Amino acid sequence: MARDIIDDRLLGALHIKALTHQGFIHDPSQEHTAFQVGTLDALMEGRFDGDTTIGEVLSHGDFGIGTVQHLGGELIILDGDAFVVKSDQQIINVEHTLQTPFAVVCRFGADAEHEIADIDDTEIYAYVDALVPDPMTIVAVKVHGSFRDLLLRSIDEQQEPFPLLSEVVKDQSEWSVRRAHGTLVGFRFPDRTAGIEIPGYHFHFISSDRKVGGHLVRCGVVEAHIALDSSEELHVELPLGVGLGTPGVADRAAIRAIERGTHGAT
Ligand SMILES: [Zn+2]
Repeated sequence: MARDIIDDRLLGALHIKALTHQGFIHDPSQEHTAFQVGTLDALMEGRFDGDTTIGEVLSHGDFGIGTVQHLGGELIILDGDAFVVKSDQQIINVEHTLQTPFAVVCRFGADAEHEIADIDDTEIYAYVDALVPDPMTIVAVKVHGSFRDLLLRSIDEQQEPFPLLSEVVKDQSEWSVRRAHGTLVGFRFPDRTAGIEIPGYHFHFISSDRKVGGHLVRCGVVEAHIALDSSEELHVELPLGVGLGTPGVADRAAIRAIERGTHGAT
C-alpha cells in the first residue's frame, strides 16, 4: 500500500505524523503510539463531518475518547467497545459504520499502576504530572473505581450549516451524579499539540453498568485503580481538505472557552 505522508514533524521529543485517509499505515501493534482522527482546529471551525469510521478507529486502538459524526455525543472507547453519551444522557453502543470528525485512541497497556483514594479530579492531574513529569509525553489515563459528585456533560447533535464549536458549547447539557462505579477514560496532551488536540487533561466517564456517562467536568474519587500508558508518537489521520496546521499554535483563549468548567485546559 502506498504510504502517503503529508506531514511529519518532530516537536521536542514528540513525533507527529500526519497522513491522508487513503494509504494510512498505522500499526496498531506498535506500542506507545496514539492515533488521532481530525484536529481540534478543524472542529473549532465547525468541521463536524469526518470520513473515518468508528470501526477503523477501533482497529487502531481499544481505549480513547472523542465525538461522533455531527457532534452526536461524547465518545468513549473502553476495552475495545465504543459508546456514545447523548445530550439527553442516554448511552448507546456506537455502530461501527458511523463516522467521526474527532477522536483519539491508543492500544492501552499500563506502564504504571497505583491505588488512589479520597482525591478530586485536579489532584488526579497533579498525581499524573508527578508520575510522568516530561510535559512532551502523551499520557493515556485510566481510572477505574468508585466516584462521587460527578459533574458530566454532553453536546447536541448539529445540523448543517454547522456553527462554530464555540457556539455549540454555549448550550450543552450538564448533570450531576452523586455516586457511580465506573471508569474515567482520558489523556494528557502536551501544550505543544494545541491545535491538534486539547492540551492538558481531557476525560470522559462511563459507569460499570454503562448507564451513566459523559464528558467529565469534575469529580471526586472514593477509591480507584489508576493506570497510565505513555506515548511518544502521535499519528494523525486528516479528513479530506483538513491540514495539520502548526502544532502548538492555537487560540488558547478559544480552547479554554470550549473546555471551561473542566480545569481550564491550562
Ligand atoms: Zn470531551
